[in-house]
Amino acid sequence: MRIGYGWDSHEFKTGVPLTIGGLKIDHPQGLFGHSDGDVLLHAITDALLGAIAVGDIGSFFPPGDPRWKDADSAIFLNLAVEEVQTAGYRIVNVDTTLVLAAPKIGPISSEMRERVAELLQIRPNAVGIKAKTPEGLSHDHVAVAHAVVLLEQFDAEEGLRQMEASIEDHQTVEAVVSELVKEVHGTRPRRTALPPSFDTEDIT
Ligand code: MG
Repeated sequence: MRIGYGWDSHEFKTGVPLTIGGLKIDHPQGLFGHSDGDVLLHAITDALLGAIAVGDIGSFFPPGDPRWKDADSAIFLNLAVEEVQTAGYRIVNVDTTLVLAAPKIGPISSEMRERVAELLQIRPNAVGIKAKTPEGLSHDHVAVAHAVVLLEQFDAEEGLRQMEASIEDHQTVEAVVSELVKEVHGTRPRRTALPPSFDTEDIT
């Protein structure tokens, strides 16, 4: 197993749209940054990359690169998820804490949890979203995010054995392969389409 930790901060500015945890939030100020300033997704991205020791968000997406100007931070997180999968790991759970004076995260924390889980291709009950106000820190113009992740090594052979043991007569080979692809790559097959299944009706 591996653990990872990430931290990020962005400054609130007027006239900037606010995006946290992949959600557009209606608020008079937004988080300023080269990308969309999504402080939470940046912290989780760093935690994932740190867990497999492949660098940080800045080494993959340099802030001076014009390609990432106003970029959707889901792009950064998606790359980190793919790096984790390529390294042979899957996400067990993620826990996060936001520190910001406003807006209140409580009323939208469930929606944020669903969105982050969707981006991470894991269940919402494996995503913690907590928020605190920065009492005594004089940080009312800043949003800070902390994130920790736990990864476990993906055992492809064990997955195959379990799949073989559960094969029923009525299941097609395609369905089994599709399940295996989902296990390895997340919620859906990513690469080339599977070949059409062999149709036994045709030879009767
Ligand atoms: Mg950032």
